[in-house]
Amino acid sequence: MGAFSGFYKKTIPERIEILKAERGLTEEEAKTLLNSGALDLETADHMIENLIGVNHIPLGVAPGFVINKKEYVVPMCIEEPSVVAGAAKAAKLAAQSGGFSADADEPVMSGQVQLVGVPEDALIKFEENKEEIEKVAKELCLGMERYGGGFRKAEASLLDTKRGKMLNTVFLVDVRDAMGANTINTMLEGIAPLLAEKIGGKIRLRIISNLATRRKARAKCIWKKERIGEDAIEGILDGYELALHDIYRCATHNKGILNGVDAVALATGNDWRAVEAGIHAFAAMDGYKPLNKFYKNEDGDLVGEIELPLAVGTVGGSIKTNPIAKIALKILDVKSAQELSMVMAAVGLAQNFAALRALGTEGIQKGHMKLHASNLAVLAGAKGDEVDAVSKKLGEEKEYTVEAAKRILKKLRGK
Ligand code: NAD
Repeated sequence: MGAFSGFYKKTIPERIEILKAERGLTEEEAKTLLNSGALDLETADHMIENLIGVNHIPLGVAPGFVINKKEYVVPMCIEEPSVVAGAAKAAKLAAQSGGFSADADEPVMSGQVQLVGVPEDALIKFEENKEEIEKVAKELCLGMERYGGGFRKAEASLLDTKRGKMLNTVFLVDVRDAMGANTINTMLEGIAPLLAEKIGGKIRLRIISNLATRRKARAKCIWKKERIGEDAIEGILDGYELALHDIYRCATHNKGILNGVDAVALATGNDWRAVEAGIHAFAAMDGYKPLNKFYKNEDGDLVGEIELPLAVGTVGGSIKTNPIAKIALKILDVKSAQELSMVMAAVGLAQNFAALRALGTEGIQKGHMKLHASNLAVLAGAKGDEVDAVSKKLGEEKEYTVEAAKRILKKLRGK
């Protein structure tokens, strides 16, 4: 990762030159990045309804992630200052201790068909017809077998609700490198009439579940005490303990993890609402808990572990229509959705490590305010070198307002 050392000090064109050399970006891709031409209106008009424009979010990279001994440059799309820097710093410290180890489950997603007003013996009828139901479900997913995935199994439970008896049928499909929603929803709509015919009742919902508990990714890292210091380790452990005992802190603790996870999901064109929904439901399964854990090993080093469901894809959805997503995936250089989910788990863990390390020691406002000051300088009208000069002065005066930035800029320009 030598080529990426001091990356943050380079100009944007210099950074893109490095990515061309190190990640094989083409001239065209470099131009797309330099023009921040993420999406042209014509393409975007085919993606959603009533289009009126495109909202851009900054795209950065966190180089230096070593995961299962492979080096990654991680693209992150986020508007919040300090997140990319935090991830990059945590990755660097992790790499000095051997990096992250990670693994992921097979990419199996589930979807549900709801039958309402079913007879008392609905579950028995489901079991009697299961072979035929599974055979048809398999045929409906044949396309996935080409990629090594396909239908896995069907199961059902009878729910006695205030609106009567309902049969909740669940279908499991290995969706390989897709997120899987379209694949599964299409299959569910295909299988539903057969279910109604064999079991009785009325078909209602036919939809994927975003709680992807069969599709989890895990990452682990040992941060050596010589590298990060004993006080930082104690601060991180104290911070983690508060999240374990207090849900108000726990929500923010998990938000720190999602700062990393969502930023990669967004950069790679993934459905981050699906990711968020699944992760929060998973965190709440036994009472809302942190998604990771921190503890000390016998050498006094800090061990961080994370496990979370990650329904993300490297194909399908808007990934192929969004040029930035394609470039981001090229920079990341992952070969499968499973590999992408391992990277996201490691980034989430790194992000939380970075946040707790800062919070437990010097606090996060110092770093945040430095970037915030640059924003204020730009808002006040500063250009080129003026931005740094104005933001430096704002830091010295510790007055972070646009008015102060305007006053400083006026003085700087000799007016
Ligand atoms: P998709 O249907 O666009 O793409 C998947 C297709 O890609 C597969 O059917 C297959 O033909 C093809 N493919 C090529 N190479 C493949 C490989 N190696 N592995 C697997 N498939 C491969 O996408 P999808 O992932 O089924 O659906 C994702 C989209 O659905 C997202 O845009 C999401 O926002 C949306 N969605 C989400 C929800 C939800 O989360 N609740 C509901 C509806 C729609």
